[in-house]
Amino acid sequence: MHFELREEQQQFQDTVLRFARDELAAGALERAHDPNYPWDVSRKMADMGLMGLCLPESDGGQGGSLMDAVIAIQAVASACPRSADVIQAGNFGPVRVFAAYGSPWQKERYLKPILAGEALISVGMSEPEAGSAVTELRTSATPDGDGYRINGSKVFTTHAPYAAVILCYVRFGPGVDGIGSVLIDTKSEGFRYGKVTQFMSGEEWRQLYFDNVYVPPEMVVLKDGGFRRQIAGFNVERLGNAARSIALARYCFEQAKSWALQRKQFGKRIAEFQGIQWKFAEMKIKLDAAQLLLYQAACRADAGFPSAEDTAIAKHACNQWGFEIANESLQILGGAGYSQDLLLEYCLRRCRGWMIAGGSLEILKNRIAESVLGKFRS
Ligand SMILES: Cc1cc2nc3c(=O)[nH]c(=O)nc-3n(C[C@H](O)[C@H](O)[C@H](O)COP(=O)(O)OP(=O)(O)OC[C@H]3O[C@@H](n4cnc5c(N)ncnc54)[C@H](O)[C@@H]3O)c2cc1C
Repeated sequence: MHFELREEQQQFQDTVLRFARDELAAGALERAHDPNYPWDVSRKMADMGLMGLCLPESDGGQGGSLMDAVIAIQAVASACPRSADVIQAGNFGPVRVFAAYGSPWQKERYLKPILAGEALISVGMSEPEAGSAVTELRTSATPDGDGYRINGSKVFTTHAPYAAVILCYVRFGPGVDGIGSVLIDTKSEGFRYGKVTQFMSGEEWRQLYFDNVYVPPEMVVLKDGGFRRQIAGFNVERLGNAARSIALARYCFEQAKSWALQRKQFGKRIAEFQGIQWKFAEMKIKLDAAQLLLYQAACRADAGFPSAEDTAIAKHACNQWGFEIANESLQILGGAGYSQDLLLEYCLRRCRGWMIAGGSLEILKNRIAESVLGKFRS
């Protein structure tokens, strides 16, 4: 068992860190407060070969492992927290499920521009009446000739205002086995957006409405019975969420450390107060533990999808402790930490959202308990 990055992983981390510090750090504050998608960063990342890191080269990816993507997202986040969203979109998000199950025709049309940093794909699972209980989704796919008519609505869809296409979970028939997915081009007739709304993080989302949208057969990704395969791929998205949580927490921790070592009150550096020292000790334990659980989940997956159990444990640790570390770090900076002149309050808001997005803490605990105790069916 080794606890250090391998030499080539270390070199890759150094390269991404250099790029992030040279190209992204200067605009980090401005980017964090801009709700628009950072397309300039997206194109730069594509030029750097940071999109599709763990997708096969035959799909236009880099043929690497999930660990490579974790290393990249965390290195970018350490210099520019907002830019880590671009690594998420190009490596961990719906792009990964799409690349696994999409047809050659679908990939030619949509994957190429995504990996070039010029387009986005969003995943539409959550609905007004189906959040944690996602298998209760109602958006329907009804046969019409060779294709399908889609009716329903999705909420909270990340990047939807900027997406070229939605990987939309739909119901072909009853029960969990009736769920599959289709691609809905956002230019399709019958597709419309609701009003622009913002999360606490500043990210924009809009409700999506499908009013009898026609989906030709070539836009079907997985037919009925596809849900379990899709949700296995969604574990990658969850790890990207976990990786950003702990990376943003580390960003806050580093800021708090520098601050505590120079800020003087009562004639002493505040790092000299035991009350502050213990905060750092507790944060360090949480940072290391969460990081190891994240690496464990990613390493065990290698080029495949991480297991549901490993993912739930890693995501819970990173989300819960990431939020706590960001919060304590902000406290150490006092009023400066609470100010929008620094990025700590932004990181705290983002970490708060990841405790809900992609499976809330409670749902993760249900999944972990299921592994420990077995599944109870009522
Ligand atoms: C920042 C952000 C980005 C998101 N991006 C996307 C996206 O791109 N695509 C998408 O489809 N969705 C997205 N979502 C939606 C997200 O997946 C849902 O918010 C999440 O699944 C929870 O659903 P809900 O909000 O409807 O809460 P609910 O399911 O209504 O839950 C409310 C509360 O009850 C708890 N709860 C529910 N069931 C149980 C249970 N069995 N046991 C214990 N507690 C329970 C929950 O943990 C939560 O605290 C995003 C959400 C956020 C915040």
